[in-house]
Amino acid sequence: KRSTVQSLLASQELDREVLVKGWVRSRRGNKYVQFIIVNDGSTIHTIQAVASAELFPEESLKDVANGASVAIRGQLVASQGKGQAVEVQALEITVLGKADPETYPLQKKATSLEHLREIAHLRPRTNTFGAVLRIRHALAFGIHQYFNDHGFFYVHTPIITGSDAEGAGQMFRVTTLPPEHPPRTADGSVDFSQDFFGKQTNLTVSGQLEGELAAMALGSVYTFGPTFRAENSNTARHLAEFWMIEPEVAFNELAENMDLAEDFLQYLVRYALERCADDLQFLNDQYDQELLSRLRSVTDNAFQRLTYTEAVEILKAAKQKFEFPVDWGTDLQSEHERYLVEKHFQKPVILTSYPKEIKAFYMKLDDDGRTVRAMDVLFPGIGEIIGGSQREEDYDKLLARMAEMHVPADELDWYLDTRRFGTVPHAGFGLGFERLVLFVTGMGNIRDVIPFPRYPKNAAF
Ligand code: ATP
Ligand code: MG
Ligand code: MG
Ligand code: MG
Repeated sequence: KRSTVQSLLASQELDREVLVKGWVRSRRGNKYVQFIIVNDGSTIHTIQAVASAELFPEESLKDVANGASVAIRGQLVASQGKGQAVEVQALEITVLGKADPETYPLQKKATSLEHLREIAHLRPRTNTFGAVLRIRHALAFGIHQYFNDHGFFYVHTPIITGSDAEGAGQMFRVTTLPPEHPPRTADGSVDFSQDFFGKQTNLTVSGQLEGELAAMALGSVYTFGPTFRAENSNTARHLAEFWMIEPEVAFNELAENMDLAEDFLQYLVRYALERCADDLQFLNDQYDQELLSRLRSVTDNAFQRLTYTEAVEILKAAKQKFEFPVDWGTDLQSEHERYLVEKHFQKPVILTSYPKEIKAFYMKLDDDGRTVRAMDVLFPGIGEIIGGSQREEDYDKLLARMAEMHVPADELDWYLDTRRFGTVPHAGFGLGFERLVLFVTGMGNIRDVIPFPRYPKNAAF
């Protein structure tokens, strides 16, 4: 039976026969002995197999090259060399799949992150992406753990939807109509009644509205699924396909929503610090020596809470020159958000009460009628990581907001039913999963925290 490298390195039980399978990272040595370094993905670390020339003449190891897959049977022994506690004294080495060292794209010298994006199908074999993917996994698991422990139900919302709920015009259309000669109605427009669903459909930009329906029955729910936005911006924090976590809680108001967001984020960062210590240490040493201290600053400090209006005052008084000027009523850019977090407060920030014009129709109006009960959570190195709000539970006010923002009420009649029948105050938020992984790994670009990133002009496989 195969043992993982991770379990062998942690093993106290020496001088027994083991079988390890993995990919060769390197082979070196002399005419008496060869050292084969193997990684199997279970950990950032590798195990060293020692092949003596008596058992393994040089010729027999010619295919044991960087990138090849191997099965090695041998004795697990204490290592003489420094850098590792144990090693495998090889008795039998089988090459499962050869790799030509001349053409193998992952050479031993470090490959740039930009180049790795072009060979995304091989990226997981690098130390960096192995670490990122294990951390990504742990965070996904931690998210379900947190909600399960707090009495939330996981609901699955549709990926193909029939409404443009956010109204931001970033939708990918879903259609089975022929692009060349689609059927047309009498007035010449495309006849979507002949499309697969009998109407125009698109990929979801958020599961929130459907999540709200479930919250109005189950109390506390969350979604965790893929979302799609035709973002035309080429930034380090936007993807066209990303995963979003959206809790929605009946009876919660804005203050409780902020408490939930803060507790949830701190839990997740702590969860990663505890479970991914080796991978985080590797990323810290390799790329970003501030990573671990930055993560601890999030778990150890209460988030700063202030209103949008107060933030605008701070930004206007700031000595720093911004690319985009700030004025009350404009949406904040990442440079502004990061200034507040990294320079001014030096801790995560929660901004509330944004002007209603720059926020979605479903947010509850503040008493002044000018701002809404929105909350954005801003993180160092990222800016906005969470966007949320208390929802407008009053039917008439919601209808008025929809009209004001040109949201078609007839298309959202199903949503309005929650306010017609047994409405309650409620609140929720959306956490971009890749922004969380970006923060926790300290990778500089969101394209490097998802296995197969989708961004403009990039959907290779
Ligand atoms: P931004 O201002 O950065 O464009 P947003 O305000 O448009 O974000 P929301 O609609 O509030 O985003 O979505 C909730 C969360 O989803 C955001 O706080 C962010 O974490 C994440 N998110 C939004 N758009 C993207 C994207 N294109 N790629 C990755 N994550 C995203
Ligand atoms: Mg956006
Ligand atoms: Mg935003
Ligand atoms: Mg937002």
